[in-house]
Amino acid sequence: MHRQIHPDRTDAEGRRRMRSQLIHGRSHSYHWDYNHHVVPPITASATFRLDSVRRGAQGFEEFASETAVGDDHPPIYIYDRLGEPNGDMLEDNLAAAHGGEVALCFASGMAAISAAICALVRSDEHVVAHKVLYGCTYSLITNWLPRFRIGASLTDLTDLDALRKAIVPATRVVYFESPVNPDMRLIDIAAVRKVVDEVNAHRSAAERVWVVVDNTFATPFCQRPLELGADLVCESLTKAIGGFGTDIGGAVVGPRSKYHDLIMYRKDFGGALSPKSAWPPLVYGLPTLAARMVNYQKSAMQISRFLERHPKVEMVRYPGLESFPQHELAKRQMRDDHGKFAPGSMMYFVVKDEVGSGRAAERLIDWAAENAYTLTLAVSLGQIKTLIEAPYSMTHSAIPDAEKRARGLVPGGIRLSVGLEDWHDIIEDLDAALRQV
Ligand SMILES: *Cc1c(COP(=O)(O)O)cnc(C)c1O
Repeated sequence: MHRQIHPDRTDAEGRRRMRSQLIHGRSHSYHWDYNHHVVPPITASATFRLDSVRRGAQGFEEFASETAVGDDHPPIYIYDRLGEPNGDMLEDNLAAAHGGEVALCFASGMAAISAAICALVRSDEHVVAHKVLYGCTYSLITNWLPRFRIGASLTDLTDLDALRKAIVPATRVVYFESPVNPDMRLIDIAAVRKVVDEVNAHRSAAERVWVVVDNTFATPFCQRPLELGADLVCESLTKAIGGFGTDIGGAVVGPRSKYHDLIMYRKDFGGALSPKSAWPPLVYGLPTLAARMVNYQKSAMQISRFLERHPKVEMVRYPGLESFPQHELAKRQMRDDHGKFAPGSMMYFVVKDEVGSGRAAERLIDWAAENAYTLTLAVSLGQIKTLIEAPYSMTHSAIPDAEKRARGLVPGGIRLSVGLEDWHDIIEDLDAALRQV
């Protein structure tokens, strides 16, 4: 960041009237020495002093220019919606974590996802997505994209033939989560890449299909989709990257060639991340991600084994379990940067329920909400507190009942986001909760 010095104005300051002086103070300060902070300060300035029209013009000229990113002089900041230091630093760190060329932060995960998709498709074009999606992403694709005449096919992307069939000449995006929220199914990113490459081999650059992966459940600690062949990655910073549940945010990571469209989209649709919300993931969330995830995973392994053995549990899906239906794919795809298996902090389980009404799961969760010390009934995930919820009626309520059932989501499904508590306590609370059903 630039330090601005105006020695010529100092002498004039004494002659200002108090009303002006109270507003301006000293016109420059040695108290803002950004480069030497160990912890970056929160910037809370919506707009930036530009010194001269010429410098302002240069700032506008360089904005959104691919070549100016990481150029040899500090960025000329103009206005927070265009870019500011806290978000920019977070973007650098996210790009590095994903091995991507550029990252752009957004006001929420949904702002990031909508930007990633809409930067790649136009009217009369088409998106292929996995049949199970985070509820708001489902709603974006089925309620909003059609208003812009953007079509969509929701299909089972674990089935590569279904993917091949779903891709039509107008398709520009293949979109999915892996692991899928909430049912923990995995999509083979490298295999999808191969299918899309076969398609793209016969297409012009303007008509190519892009692979976009929502990596929120895995985080870059457990899985880096760009290395596996994705073109763009979306993350909700609200979840495990933010880690402490204080702020909402999102990010898109990808190639430099998409930087211009994404930053222009962010500027004009306006979903920029506030610097006050960029600061916690920059200072607390991302720096502790690895330490938290290692502990989440240790606990998740113990908890999923406990659930797997429990007579009242019909099934549990955690990629770390040998019984996980896609365990081999999990071991291939979910790896930390040392190559160690990294199955993450999320699991999904279904309790036995004779009528299939979901009542048993509701009783379990309601009991836990009132009585369990370590289990908190709340949406969101990846925090230091263990969170439990019922996706069928909560996070995924945007999907119509018949479609949920057709897609394998049942009212008795429970999503568990493992936190940093001692896993013995979490298991004791789950055990007590299971006694209520
Ligand atoms: C929470 C979530 C989102 C949306 O993120 P927000 O920050 O809440 O907008 C998108 N995808 C997945 C998988 C999520 O869990």
